[in-house]
Amino acid sequence: MDDWKREWLTQLPQIDEILLSLERRGLLNWAHRPLVKETCRSTVEAWRRKIMAWKEGERGFAPPSTAGLAEEIILSIEGLHTCRLRRVINATGVILHTNLGRAPLAVAALDRIIEVGRGYSNLEFDLEKGARGLRYDHVRDLICRLTGAEDALVVNNNAAAVLLVLNSLAQGGEAIVSRGELIEIGGEFRIPEVMEKSGARLREVGATNRSRLKDYQLAINADTRLLMKVHTSNFRIIGFTEEVDLKSLVALGREHDIPVMNDLGSGCMIDLGLHGLQREPTVEDVVTAGADVITFSGDKLLGGPQAGIIVGRRDMLERIRKNPLNRALRIDKLTLAALEATMIHYLHPERAREDLRVLKALTEPLEGVAARAKKLLRKLKGTNLEGMRFARKEGMSVAGGGSLPGQEIPTMLVVMTPLGMSAVRLEEMLRRLEVPIIARIAAADVLLDMRTVEEEEFRFILEGLQTVTAG
Ligand SMILES: *Cc1c(COP(=O)(O)O)cnc(C)c1O
Repeated sequence: MDDWKREWLTQLPQIDEILLSLERRGLLNWAHRPLVKETCRSTVEAWRRKIMAWKEGERGFAPPSTAGLAEEIILSIEGLHTCRLRRVINATGVILHTNLGRAPLAVAALDRIIEVGRGYSNLEFDLEKGARGLRYDHVRDLICRLTGAEDALVVNNNAAAVLLVLNSLAQGGEAIVSRGELIEIGGEFRIPEVMEKSGARLREVGATNRSRLKDYQLAINADTRLLMKVHTSNFRIIGFTEEVDLKSLVALGREHDIPVMNDLGSGCMIDLGLHGLQREPTVEDVVTAGADVITFSGDKLLGGPQAGIIVGRRDMLERIRKNPLNRALRIDKLTLAALEATMIHYLHPERAREDLRVLKALTEPLEGVAARAKKLLRKLKGTNLEGMRFARKEGMSVAGGGSLPGQEIPTMLVVMTPLGMSAVRLEEMLRRLEVPIIARIAAADVLLDMRTVEEEEFRFILEGLQTVTAG
């Protein structure tokens, strides 16, 4: 070993010395001593390895001082105590942003999570009978009432719901699906692959752009267990197209005594057509059309927590409930508490539109969004932020999250033009704030879409920009 390396290694502070320094800085007042000690050891060890790996030409670095090491250890321990999963400000204008946690929860839903989570609950206890109950019973009647379905079951998410239904109803047999509906949702969720995992055999019919009832008819055989319709919720095929509507498929299923499943995806509960948006089939529409089993998400257009909701015929739901897979995919109590509170909003659809942020963001008239942009702009201009120009302009938001493909929603953007740095750099700095602001870049500007930002979030934007402009 080189002499200078040996010299540096011996210069590395002793653990006791560092601990003393940390104690003086107050770290041991709040951090667990064994954790601090272990971090001292591993930090010194890391420096030892770094010194050993150094090449002659790279000299010019120095081994750390006791104070330097103590600083490094404090940062590392503070980092361990900081939650990595944090709130962010979604200024992207993508209303259901899967990477940003999809639907924000309503206040009532959050209250229920705290209420149910902080103590014990009647999760699986029937208070009337004083006996074991089912966790699904709490929301079952409500979901049935709101959708017109006979029965309901909730699981972890819609992917789980689809897997569970296919496995319960079609394992070992065939499920018929149109080639135009073999969708990928994102992540690893693709209909053919989920089908394979479920133990059902996929029987594709029709072509990408056109399927007819005759195609389904000809594919039915002794092994057919299910006719499946998948809502193409995140893309649109336009041009020379034809698909079989649910009603015809239901009639065909009845004729052959084969159940019809509809994976609806989004779980829209109100008529969006009334608010100037393209009309999504509502859950109630699909129940009315006669689908035997319907699956949809809790955190897309429904505006609640991540969940998979299964509604439909009682005998089908009974089979699904009894499947051992259901136990593995079951919904958690906090989710259930939030889902129940979210669903209650729909008893008064107008109130749902005001209190569920996803619905509000989707249906808020442009004037409201523009007023918010104006207000933020005034605050930004009054805050004396150096090195930045602010303006307003119209733009487009989207529903996102595999909902309302192609639908653009007019919005108002706050345009920030940094003068002393690039837009790319500004976007990055906003993203690294304590409360990160997730924005869009357009040429030399960074855009804040006011459709997905609420007024109570302004303070994070104002404080964040102050931090950024202060360097
Ligand atoms: C989103 C979606 C799924 C998956 O739902 P998750 O709740 O994300 O698991 C499945 N099918 C369709 C049609 C969807 O749109």
